[in-house]
Amino acid sequence: MDAYDPGTLPALLAGEPPYRLRQVRSWLARGIDDPAGMTDLPQELRERLGARLAPAPRVLRISTADGGLTRKVLLECGGGEAVESVLMLYPRTSGRAARATVCISTQAGCALGCPFCATGQAGFRRQLTVGEILRQVTVMQRLLAAGEAAVPGAVDHVTNVVFMGMGEPLANLDATVAAVRWLVDQAGLGLSARSITVSTVGLVPGIRRLTGLGLPITLAVSLHAPDDRLRDDLVPVNRQHPLAELLEACRGYRAATGRRLTFEYVLIDGVNAAMGQARALAALVGDMGCHVNLIPMNPTPAVPWTAPPVPAQRAFAGVLERAGVPTTIRRNRGGDIDAACGQLYASYAVASGKVLPAAVGAAERVSAVAADADRR
Ligand code: SF4
Repeated sequence: MDAYDPGTLPALLAGEPPYRLRQVRSWLARGIDDPAGMTDLPQELRERLGARLAPAPRVLRISTADGGLTRKVLLECGGGEAVESVLMLYPRTSGRAARATVCISTQAGCALGCPFCATGQAGFRRQLTVGEILRQVTVMQRLLAAGEAAVPGAVDHVTNVVFMGMGEPLANLDATVAAVRWLVDQAGLGLSARSITVSTVGLVPGIRRLTGLGLPITLAVSLHAPDDRLRDDLVPVNRQHPLAELLEACRGYRAATGRRLTFEYVLIDGVNAAMGQARALAALVGDMGCHVNLIPMNPTPAVPWTAPPVPAQRAFAGVLERAGVPTTIRRNRGGDIDAACGQLYASYAVASGKVLPAAVGAAERVSAVAADADRR
């Protein structure tokens, strides 16, 4: 049984005094999910919980980059799977409080096949459970509390969570929603909803369900192309939910939550990074009360794409800024430890000779669409 599943602990602790539930939840929030370590519980209860709850996953690897500011953890899950999560520390500055942000995965692999994405190239393996999603946060909480990730000016607990690792969160919607609820629950991690970001490539039914949750979490929507023709190939789910439908759902989210939207746009040289495409993007989102995050393409093992040169990235951002769209160019954290979405798994897969299906032929197909768009 999964300790983080909303019904599990109340069922297992039925008949115990109410404070037992609070005790167990408090241990989980501190990253102690093996009942043997819950030292204020009676031995008999620890053993009973230990026999019923799924074992805590082993940490397979911890890598460090950026002078200790970035940590990547590879966690073992059931069935021989492994998931990756990244802790990014932002020490206090004169204008901003310190933060510790965890980027987590919601699926082992992904079925949506975006060809620029290392996770998409590796295909879908299975959904993660709510416990497997949340343990990626609590393992970081434990590292921070133990001082194992300490750097000067940093906090000792998780302050922000972004659902931007492997997988499409809204394709594992029930587990994602349960995880968000635990993160904001005072009996869980007690985070502010505003400190949680859920990303999506545009699964409109999921956006509508998030809209109905009534929680002001930040929605980050991956656009990656300013028109349906190119987006159909760069983000294949666009064929089911084209841009007009997606942007209408985004407007609904903004109206219901009051939250500013974030649009993600990976910059790929020769594909979607031309000045005309910047103007088209500005026209598309200029009235949406949004922020655009430009992500220079991180090379993946299986496609030949790269980011445009830095001056071209700045020029693209400049077009958006002049159109009144606040824009940032994201600095890739932990590039030397494969910290971008799915890259650790993809490196393993390529090294061990696995086929990455979404990559096959995708680069040629998308480049042809982009060249055609340039000519028109
Ligand atoms: S970008 Fe996101 S949705 Fe697309 S393949 Fe990668 S993980 Fe899946």
